[in-house]
Amino acid sequence: MTDRPRLVAVRAGALFDGVSGTLMLDPVLLMNGPVIAAVARAGTPPPGAEVVDLPGTTLLPGLIDTHVHLAFDAGPDPVAALARRDDDAALAAMRAAGRAALHAGITTVRDLGDRGYLSLRLRGTAGLPTIVAAGPPITTPAGHCHFLGGATEPTPQAVRAAVRDRADRGADVVKVMASGGTMTPGTRQETSQFTVELLRAVVDEAHRHGLPVTAHAHGTGAIRMSLDAGVDGMEHVSFWSADGVDDPGDLTGRIAGSGVTVGLTVGVAPVPGAAPPPAIAKRLPRIITNTRRLYEAGAHLVLGTDAGIGPTKPHDVLPHALQQTTMIGLTPALALTWATSRAAAACGLGGTKGRLAPGLDADIVAVDGDPLADLTALHRIRAVFARGHRVV
Ligand SMILES: [Zn+2]
Repeated sequence: MTDRPRLVAVRAGALFDGVSGTLMLDPVLLMNGPVIAAVARAGTPPPGAEVVDLPGTTLLPGLIDTHVHLAFDAGPDPVAALARRDDDAALAAMRAAGRAALHAGITTVRDLGDRGYLSLRLRGTAGLPTIVAAGPPITTPAGHCHFLGGATEPTPQAVRAAVRDRADRGADVVKVMASGGTMTPGTRQETSQFTVELLRAVVDEAHRHGLPVTAHAHGTGAIRMSLDAGVDGMEHVSFWSADGVDDPGDLTGRIAGSGVTVGLTVGVAPVPGAAPPPAIAKRLPRIITNTRRLYEAGAHLVLGTDAGIGPTKPHDVLPHALQQTTMIGLTPALALTWATSRAAAACGLGGTKGRLAPGLDADIVAVDGDPLADLTALHRIRAVFARGHRVV
């Protein structure tokens, strides 16, 4: 590192602060090392500050993807590809995945499933996004993603020990597979993997150690049991049934009333020759309808991409996800709020990330144009700062 000044003033055309639905015009954002020192309209940079001029751009908080898998390489068979890699090769691929995300303006990712706690080792690495990590998801023997190493006997003692192991290793969040999933042969999305008693044991032990729990829950039964068990978050929430998608019935209101965070799985990159699996594509219209109902009922929704699980899910897919939230009725301002301040809170980082305000981390993206008018501006990155370091 060269001895660059600690004070850096960024001048841009506009600024979205992560919370309000309007832009500040002619902002001057002052960074002091890794944190934001001041945000002012048309201010004068202090003497001695390095000045970065980005005319015509809008500054926004670095984007946050609440559900990624750095260990999956977004190829046609990410499970087989990971199995072929030893830990060093897997870590190299994970660093490349993280760099791709960061260069797209995604300055924080929550990794909800790695192998062998590899994502925990990458936390704090310069040149990568901030990583919030679960380690291997807790699953049943031969259950969804068992090959990541989180297979656990379905007994209260065993699931509590699995949670304690994650706490001891310094995981930031506990991920539990409440239902089967798409990428694990022999499991089914609509089938529950744990009883409500076992899910309660996971939640109780995690909370005892100060850790939140988010449950992978596709099927209606797994969604209901996760709610009953008191999880903090649920992923997917697709109401997947054997031949289609269930009507959520009373669960829409229950989810909204519970305040539980629902991680919507969104974001498909336009990759030539690649498409989502047919089983997902045929269910998508009803999943969108149910999601829209959840939104209208006031459920606490956030955006996650499941980046890494296939060719249409590269690690920089989140900007596409924001554009695709119009399907459930979001405005660009709301989509950006969900992908910044709301996502930060969901990841336990509401005090340090997701907003452009004094005292917060200097995770900043500059895009050409006005993303509140046109979210495709997110694909026109002019600068990215991660904890004060310019990486683009
Ligand atoms: Zn996932």
